[in-house]
Amino acid sequence: MEKEQSVVEESRKNLNFIEQIVENDLKEGKNGGRIQTRFPPEPNGYLHIGHAKAICLDFGIAERYGGICNLRFDDTNPVKEDMEYVDSIMEDIKWLGFHWENVYYASDYFKQLWDFAVQLIKEGKAYVDEQSAEEIAKQKGTPTIPGTHSPYRDRPSEESLELFEKMNSGEIPEGKMVLRAKIDMASSNMHFRDPIIYRVIHIPHHRTGTQWKAYPMYDFAHGQSDYFEGVTHSLCTLEFEVHRPLYDWFLDQLADSDYRPRQTEFNRLNLTYTVMSKRKLLQLVQEKLVSGWDDPRMPTLTGMRRRGYTAQAIRNFIDKIGYTKYEAINDVSLLEHAVREDLNAHAIRVSGVIDPIKLILTNYPEGQVEEMEAINNPEDESMGGRKVKFSRELWIERDDFMEEAPKKYFRLTPGNEVRLKNGYIVKCTGCRKDEEGNVTEVYAEYDPMTKSGMPDSNRKVKGTIHWVSVSHSLDAEVRLYDRLFMVEDPASEKEKDFRELLNPDSLIVKKGCKVEEYLKDAKPLDSFQFQRIGYFNVDRDSTEDTLVFNRTVALKDSWKK
Ligand code: ATP
Ligand code: MG
Repeated sequence: MEKEQSVVEESRKNLNFIEQIVENDLKEGKNGGRIQTRFPPEPNGYLHIGHAKAICLDFGIAERYGGICNLRFDDTNPVKEDMEYVDSIMEDIKWLGFHWENVYYASDYFKQLWDFAVQLIKEGKAYVDEQSAEEIAKQKGTPTIPGTHSPYRDRPSEESLELFEKMNSGEIPEGKMVLRAKIDMASSNMHFRDPIIYRVIHIPHHRTGTQWKAYPMYDFAHGQSDYFEGVTHSLCTLEFEVHRPLYDWFLDQLADSDYRPRQTEFNRLNLTYTVMSKRKLLQLVQEKLVSGWDDPRMPTLTGMRRRGYTAQAIRNFIDKIGYTKYEAINDVSLLEHAVREDLNAHAIRVSGVIDPIKLILTNYPEGQVEEMEAINNPEDESMGGRKVKFSRELWIERDDFMEEAPKKYFRLTPGNEVRLKNGYIVKCTGCRKDEEGNVTEVYAEYDPMTKSGMPDSNRKVKGTIHWVSVSHSLDAEVRLYDRLFMVEDPASEKEKDFRELLNPDSLIVKKGCKVEEYLKDAKPLDSFQFQRIGYFNVDRDSTEDTLVFNRTVALKDSWKK
């Protein structure tokens, strides 16, 4: 009994504040025990890791409490929206491992929202304002100074109704008229000072075409859409906290029962060394400062996927940072840690040589080829092993050899011994150089008794290096990524254009790399650990002749001080 109690307490302790709210609502029997959430992206860009935080919560709550989560495209502004974004959003949610119950579009509610606006006009709770945006802004007042009434505020309902029709028929140019809710120009909540609820836009909508010219504002569409669908818990980020009273006000005008969706706000995900605003991300794409929305340096889900970040790693990271009521900025190295942890458990270890130089084992028989046993993943026996070909000529990393080395250099230097991973211990005997003094070949002698299974296989040497047999290697291009921005919080550097803060070394392309033959059937997105270097995945730019790899993340955090 006691034990059971502590288990319950343990799980309660781990609930985030939103789960606590949901559990309370369930206990009180609210909404007949029904749990319904929604994820409401605006289809005006690709999803980024910040959206993943909202997705994990919206879908996670529904999963955990046996409810449903719908995908709703918040497509009330035709100017920036596009079907390409709709498709990518669906793909990214599926990739994260979530399933929506239904797909809805706010644009499906345009008629219902219109009817509701007409109702408000008839009730004297909305009016058409013919002032310019500047005039309206001037009358807003400040949080301590009440606003001024528009000269159109008390016009007859019939007049507003007639003009509202015209706003939608195409007769009224953009910016000439808006519909405003008539609430309270002296309210301490600025959102209550006769908010604009409809404006005119003449650009065709990606779904409704030219059917509408009057479009509802976010605040007039969001809560009502929640209500039409039967949402119980409407979860959004903290900046909407001040909108909540207005959200509730509209619902009170609309509802004909006790049912209300309830809005709860949580902190946004902000990451160091990147930007998360869709406007800025779009700018990077349009100005070709990155290769596209799926550039592996982008904080987009499609970019992270291409880079080799796994959905599980992203979900683990989001789990770890949690949900609070306070804005903060999360260290990207925490995300990288989660990626490393997941790939460590699942990625096959292979050999890849990024900056190759030839190592010749002068006492190894010419033409001889041996098969060495390699373990696929020491973390997971069930992943088995494979054979790797070994021969007289091997590719090794250029910096694994030094002709004159400092004391603690445990790699190849004349007279020194190292173990070739999965192979023999070899002793360096020298090198050849070109006229300019560049090393072109390294020489060593191998000790035949030191292969696995041989008498001296357990002999210890200080260094182990990786290698690829020259005649059993494949050509590869390797793309090394670093952080996209040079500063921790580009968005906070207000006096600078964010584009000036881009890291010029965020992409370094290495050509002429060599990888082991085993990778010849690797497909785009397949992930591997290049031993001693990092995690890499196959890029879709790979061709028959040259594999292209993205460095997902280095083995160690090189940014740690
Ligand atoms: P924009 O940059 O155009 O203002 P947005 O980032 O708010 O857009 P939406 O498509 O409106 O993007 O967002 C869909 C959902 O994702 C919303 O519920 C929003 O609160 C949430 N969301 C967006 N960015 C983040 C973030 N950084 N952290 C957590 N949730 C986010
Ligand atoms: Mg938004």
